[in-house]
Amino acid sequence: MSTFQAPKGTYDLLPPHSATYLTVREAISAPLRNSGYGYIETPGFENVELFARGVGESTDIVTKEMYAFETKGGDRLALRPEGTASVLRAALEANLHKGGNLPVKLWYSGSYYRYERPQKGRYRHFSQVGAEAIGAEDPALDAELIILADQAYRSLGLRNFRILLNSLGDKECRPVYRAALQDFLRGLDLDDDTRRRVDINPLRVLDDKRESVRKQLTGAPALGDYLCEACKAYHEQVRELLTAAGVAFENDANLVRGLDYYTRTTFEFVHDGLGSQSAVGGGGRYDGLSEMIGGPALPSVGWALGVDRTVLALEAEGVTLDIPAATAVYAVPLGEEARRVLFAQVTVLRKAGIATDFAFGGKGLKNAMKSANRSGARLALVAGERDLAEGVVQLKNLESGEQTAVPLDAVVDEVRRTLG
Ligand code: AMP
Repeated sequence: MSTFQAPKGTYDLLPPHSATYLTVREAISAPLRNSGYGYIETPGFENVELFARGVGESTDIVTKEMYAFETKGGDRLALRPEGTASVLRAALEANLHKGGNLPVKLWYSGSYYRYERPQKGRYRHFSQVGAEAIGAEDPALDAELIILADQAYRSLGLRNFRILLNSLGDKECRPVYRAALQDFLRGLDLDDDTRRRVDINPLRVLDDKRESVRKQLTGAPALGDYLCEACKAYHEQVRELLTAAGVAFENDANLVRGLDYYTRTTFEFVHDGLGSQSAVGGGGRYDGLSEMIGGPALPSVGWALGVDRTVLALEAEGVTLDIPAATAVYAVPLGEEARRVLFAQVTVLRKAGIATDFAFGGKGLKNAMKSANRSGARLALVAGERDLAEGVVQLKNLESGEQTAVPLDAVVDEVRRTLG
């Protein structure tokens, strides 16, 4: 194995492609920042119990995919596999829910870790932007989050995504359904692992992708038939609000998602150009999570959108983002004196907000001009002894080749004028 190889299932973001990731994070968070969500950052690792209790002991995420380890001090920690449990833990620790201003609305952006079998769109280190609205039971809040995610994807130019929507019921009706489903599943021909899952988390069996299991599931009791009146009414309101907002969705009775904490509203954003890893984002209501991790009752809702898969979705749709060139002006000094003068000009231009770079390393004119072209700059600022003697620099338009002499003290204005 080469020393210069990223660990399996991970990849590096390198310029210029990395600029797309920044733009995607920015675009996903923009609607949140515009809607009362405050930025939160939590550690990359937490006590392992938080995820075991929160995400669920029976989920693949906790049993198979978690990077759990013991520190030298004997603490049992895990790299975070998802964001919701950490954000709720942080909010509870800081008593944000006691400020008398519920819901507490938070957004985050960061790296997450799952020991998965790597493939396109599925990595061991990936990046999400997420949002959580903690401490309010209100269908408008569920609708708000779905609308904001829809707006985020659309602002990026994505069109071929669909929103799948379901309700998982609450602590009144879900147990009744769970028992009925268990009765049904216990009558099927299933392997030992799946039987265990029937005992611990039968809803997840509905999500089994294997054909041998799928074909036995026809005729399974449907959650929709078991929803209590309160859950039905709640779900109907979410749907009405989405429809009124012009956000199209599909009802998907099989959407259970891979995390245990969801109740009532659950949703997933899928993109049809991504093959098997088609979920670009997902979320839902988690009214019981706070109590599961030892907090008070705090009905909440949230989502996380995958940055990696959003970038793949953009590629699949052939969308190119409008990302400005990193450098607008490139300064090329010819000689020592010019180096001092132009380097000072570079700082002046940067302070004026103009993206400027400099030919470092004492390059000759030819090489320096090559670098100028590669940088994507539209203008080069070139100066030699004779220019300096006249108090000017040459401003060269790299697109047209046109060149004009500009007095040193007029450079910023002239550059601004030319860049428009
Ligand atoms: P989840 O918490 O599993 O619902 O994940 C939310 C979103 O994060 C998914 O829709 C994906 O876009 C993204 N995601 C989850 N796991 C991975 C992974 N292993 N690699 C890349 N993206 C992922």
